[in-house]
Amino acid sequence: MLASLREIVQDVATAGSFREALDLLVIDVRAALGTEVCSVYLMNAARDRFLFAANEGLNQAFVGEFTLAVNEGLVGLVAERAEPINLEDATNHPRFVFLEAIGEEPFHAFLGVPIIHHRTVLGVLVVQQRETRRFDESEEAFLVTLAAQLATVIAHAEATGEVVALTSVPGSEREDVLYRGVAGSPGIAMGTAVVVLPLADLSSVPDRETDDITTELMLFDRAVETVREDIRRTGEQFAETLPAEELALFDAYLHMLDDNAIPGDVRDRIRLGQWAQGALRQVIREHLRTFEQMDDPYLRERGADVKDLGLRVLAVLQDSRARKQHFPEQSVLVGEEVTAGMLAVIPPERLSAIVSLQGAGSSHVAILARALGVPAVMGAVDVPLYHIENAELVVDGYYGEVYANPSRTLSTHFQQLIDEEHEFATELEELKDLPSVTNDGWRVRLWVNIGLTGDLTRSLDRGAEGIGLFRTEVPFMTQDRFPTEEEQRVIYRAHMEAFEPRPVTMRTLDIGGDKALSYFPITEENPFLGWRGIRVTLDHPEIFLAQVRAMIKANAGLQGLLRIMLPMISGLDEVIEAKGLVKRAFEEVREEGVNVKQPHVGVMVEVPAAVYQARTLARNVDFLAVGSNDLTQYMLAVDRNNPRVAGLYKEVHPAVLMALREVARAAHVEEKPIGICGELAGTPIGAVLLMAMGYDVLSMNATNLPKVKWVIRNIKRSQARRMLARVLKMEQSKEIEEYMRQELIDAGLGRVVPRHHH
Ligand code: PEP
Ligand code: MG
Repeated sequence: MLASLREIVQDVATAGSFREALDLLVIDVRAALGTEVCSVYLMNAARDRFLFAANEGLNQAFVGEFTLAVNEGLVGLVAERAEPINLEDATNHPRFVFLEAIGEEPFHAFLGVPIIHHRTVLGVLVVQQRETRRFDESEEAFLVTLAAQLATVIAHAEATGEVVALTSVPGSEREDVLYRGVAGSPGIAMGTAVVVLPLADLSSVPDRETDDITTELMLFDRAVETVREDIRRTGEQFAETLPAEELALFDAYLHMLDDNAIPGDVRDRIRLGQWAQGALRQVIREHLRTFEQMDDPYLRERGADVKDLGLRVLAVLQDSRARKQHFPEQSVLVGEEVTAGMLAVIPPERLSAIVSLQGAGSSHVAILARALGVPAVMGAVDVPLYHIENAELVVDGYYGEVYANPSRTLSTHFQQLIDEEHEFATELEELKDLPSVTNDGWRVRLWVNIGLTGDLTRSLDRGAEGIGLFRTEVPFMTQDRFPTEEEQRVIYRAHMEAFEPRPVTMRTLDIGGDKALSYFPITEENPFLGWRGIRVTLDHPEIFLAQVRAMIKANAGLQGLLRIMLPMISGLDEVIEAKGLVKRAFEEVREEGVNVKQPHVGVMVEVPAAVYQARTLARNVDFLAVGSNDLTQYMLAVDRNNPRVAGLYKEVHPAVLMALREVARAAHVEEKPIGICGELAGTPIGAVLLMAMGYDVLSMNATNLPKVKWVIRNIKRSQARRMLARVLKMEQSKEIEEYMRQELIDAGLGRVVPRHHH
């Protein structure tokens, strides 16, 4: 039976349409279980009824016509209980309804299983038989497994509108299609979907039919020629220095790109109607398979060369497409995994929102979107990537929702919200030069996180009083090797000069986790628990020293305080070791004759261990700064990038708040400044609570800064402390969120907590 389960799933997944998938399913299941009837009932949420969506064995004429009320019959009961119901003789059951209309004869045996996706019942899968029969345990398990797999297919069809099309009354008004994700970056935007593909990743290239074979052939030929030219040039560069056998590799590469090798095969496929990228992927994959099967390890290794060539050609192909790609005025960038690099291809004034199928609220792309002030929804896994191009979308970055093809009513509603936001933003501009001080005179420093965008002036325009986090990974990520000390110094200096005389907090390299350098790959099973941040740089003191020297030199002659911040600290040893290196770097720079001031050294509290050792750490450094993005991830054991668990990532989880308060206390006792540079600091609710806890510095993206300042200036610290006291007694995040929302509304600050559409 297992084989047929796999076959059925495959049939369904590869069917030409959703309709066809359902039809195949009922035929296959009926055969596999040797039963008389198999049906699928699908929920139509708008009509609140189950539609008789597919059937084998009853009157086919009623498929797509007949409906059941949600609480009707055994089908309704299966949905209600969200559990299978397996009856030898259904006719005895009190909920049995004889559906004569659809050609039901008195069937006795009944097995119905719910089709559940993300805790919601999407439909019911039913098998029936005339004589009494007990569907056995393995048959029940078979249907349950199938229904679980089918749920994904149905959810996807729901997202593409196929379910609505199937379950709606013909001619009825179009329903808005809603895709749920998680809030990535606040704000609301409307625009046209533009789908972006990952750069140079062969395996994710989709098959796509083309009716412009000539253009595809031309694009391909050009790409091959560009790559051949590159290789030839590189070969010539090394002609003097490399031994002959190494040089032979370049010839081998060129040989593989000969007309009768890989390119010939690709062209054949394009001629059959496949677009160039798809044809390339297919051919490279076949060649790779051949290489993998070779016994000779040397030849097997050559597979890597084929892959490399494939990637090079693909990169050129995608580059020429990207350059050609048209971006409508209000583009909503949609991608499987939107990356910082993808954002670079679109003119900034045309980027209205971002929708990423992967990732979650504290993924770095979301942080980047916030820094850019662009609304974003992350983890919208059900968005049909390959069918959504050009669709009109509404992106609600506050609630993590995306609507496709919105109705007039919906558009009007969101347009009104957009207008209100605009108005508010204009008012906020006036706060730029005013201090962030509460109504009762409590001063909080509002600093910015920087590094993900090169946008310095914007931060200053918004009234930032310092840099609380400079993510130095970015200059490293945009290179194809480690940047030199001098290259780093120039970049750091530009920031420090722009912020002079304000303090600048430079974090040492924090790679690993979800931040990779192409030229320094780290492959691990559990990257977030692996070689990350300070762990990498202590193992590579040469990288650490060069970076710290660059920071210290960049600060030469400036008044602004340089604060060096260490990421991912999990114990005192690391701090002592790193401080030793900083001291060494400082002395080396001094010895070079550069006149520099001693920097402050601080640690990030982002590992739970650091919470419990906060006093020890504080005693040994000049400042503490909480990285609440990672701290939340590690405390709740929720991967900050995984959309499956995104709902569990709670910024105001009681445990997280308790930890935040403890860290603040520890720093106060040791009389060291305490800051926070995680995204929580930039949310109105977070800022109020953190201010109440006594955080001296809230560091956030430039976009949110004016809004947070507005909140701070319009609230009393005593009020905030009262809220905090209440919140710390609460036991659930939901309760805290709701309470704080209401408190802000009651305090006249409702403009920063926008209402939900539903
Ligand atoms: C954090 O973890 O909260 C933080 C500020 O660092 P990053 O988001 O870069 O990991
Ligand atoms: Mg972090």
